[in-house]
Amino acid sequence: MSAANTLLRDVFGFDNFRPGQEDIVDAVIGGDNVLAIMPTGGGKSLCFQLPALVRDGVTVVISPLIALMRDQVRALKEAGVEAGALTSGNTDEETAAVWDGLDQGTLKLLYIAPERLSSGAAMGMLRRIGVDLIAVDEAHCVSQWGHDFRPDYLRIGDLRRALGVPLAAFTATADAETREEIVKRLFDDQPPTTFLHGFDRPNIHLAFAAKDSPRRQILDFAAARKGQSGIVYCGTRAKTESLAAALREAGHSSLHYHGGMDADARRSTEVQFQREDGLIVVATVAFGMGIDKPDIRWVAHADLPKSIEAYYQEIGRAGRDGAPAETLTLFGPDDIRLRRTQIDEGLAPAEMQMADHARLNALLGLAEALKCRRSILLGYFGENDVTCGNCDLCDTPADVFDGTTAVRKALSAALRTGEWFGSGHLIDILLGNDTDKIRERGHDSLPTYGVGTEYDRRQWQAVFRQMMGRDLLRPDPERHGGLRMTDDALPILKGEASIELRRDSIRKADRRPAPKA
Ligand code: ADP
Ligand code: ZN
Repeated sequence: MSAANTLLRDVFGFDNFRPGQEDIVDAVIGGDNVLAIMPTGGGKSLCFQLPALVRDGVTVVISPLIALMRDQVRALKEAGVEAGALTSGNTDEETAAVWDGLDQGTLKLLYIAPERLSSGAAMGMLRRIGVDLIAVDEAHCVSQWGHDFRPDYLRIGDLRRALGVPLAAFTATADAETREEIVKRLFDDQPPTTFLHGFDRPNIHLAFAAKDSPRRQILDFAAARKGQSGIVYCGTRAKTESLAAALREAGHSSLHYHGGMDADARRSTEVQFQREDGLIVVATVAFGMGIDKPDIRWVAHADLPKSIEAYYQEIGRAGRDGAPAETLTLFGPDDIRLRRTQIDEGLAPAEMQMADHARLNALLGLAEALKCRRSILLGYFGENDVTCGNCDLCDTPADVFDGTTAVRKALSAALRTGEWFGSGHLIDILLGNDTDKIRERGHDSLPTYGVGTEYDRRQWQAVFRQMMGRDLLRPDPERHGGLRMTDDALPILKGEASIELRRDSIRKADRRPAPKA
């Protein structure tokens, strides 16, 4: 048995490596610079803790969360490993014990908070103690365009240069820009040995549906899975309460959960969910951090999640036991409008807003997908293409049609009214409806008036939603949300490009029977 396998069993108490772990461990032990991208819960910490025990000197671990550091140090000590942390949360005794361990050369892992790196004293100390590996947890914190940016992470590159030792960086954030920035800031653009693993959760069925009658859709989805434990994520606190009540009325056992509840009420809901079978918790994203329930059978999103990362993390709470689990994500034009407005009205600098719009586009691309959703999801995380056989579009391929003419008509309606209006009014124009607003503005004399009668209102809503989803039309916050054409739509308007749309994108609620448990 190799040294690594012996340590895995004797120190960490595991019989086998998880997929991907062994290759990373080998590379880190071998002294490579490493960038490992693994999903949350994938087992990252082992990938630097185990090599730290094999290598000669001290491994410095940089992590942004003091609570997590303290947790890991406690677990390591319980396993008999000499580990310590230097953080602002230390007692004097703890700090003294760390220094003793360093003086005697027995300490193997030293966790430090990134803000320590800004003091010259800490840099000097790290130079003296015989560091031979730097491990960086949550390495995406070095990215200025991400939401977890930590200026002190920018000093890690200096530290690596000063110590001249290998560095292993870990993150669950996988988009290409973030990865590039990590390589630039931590590795001076010298490509590290990179690992990307474990994003596929093949037992989780993926499905999206356009919001039609959203409450009905969630109730139907839950009804087909009665008696199973599930989570419904909602965009607002008020909605968690009303939807939980509706589920109770429909005969389910259901509780709401959100950040506005006091700590005791939240705790008791968590405990009840953990213990009880068949409870549905209707929650904001505040729910889930402390939940470690392996047999959650389904997760539904009553509103579009924030990002692909958030979507992945939230659906990932289902089916931890490996048995089949199901998901349903609802989305509609209101979600798109809300998210765009949040980005535009936020205080972030322009480049960051652009990056956020691009991130939202990636999520909407998944929602409006025309082919296997898992292939798009895994493609986003950089993993290989698959056709999964376990998503709604593998079950029933999308029914697409050439939507070029419809899109051009819709664009024309927006342009001829000065890009001041939302889809409701534009659809009235296309359908040739006789409304007060149309008469007041004289829009019945537009050449676009009444040119869209081949579709009904719902079909036009689906066309507009798909156009917003593909970022051809964007609500403009400076025009009360009036839809503006984006540059991406120009080729279609000019007749230089065509576009496929889904015919069936306004779906009936999911009435698929749940698989037998
Ligand atoms: P993260 O990747 O989110 O940092 P952790 O390192 O905390 O994840 O690991 C997640 C969980 O997986 C922990 O409970 C850990 O004990 C467990 N784990 C890690 N490696 C293995 C393994 N080889 N076998 C079984 N469980 C493992
Ligand atoms: Zn698929």
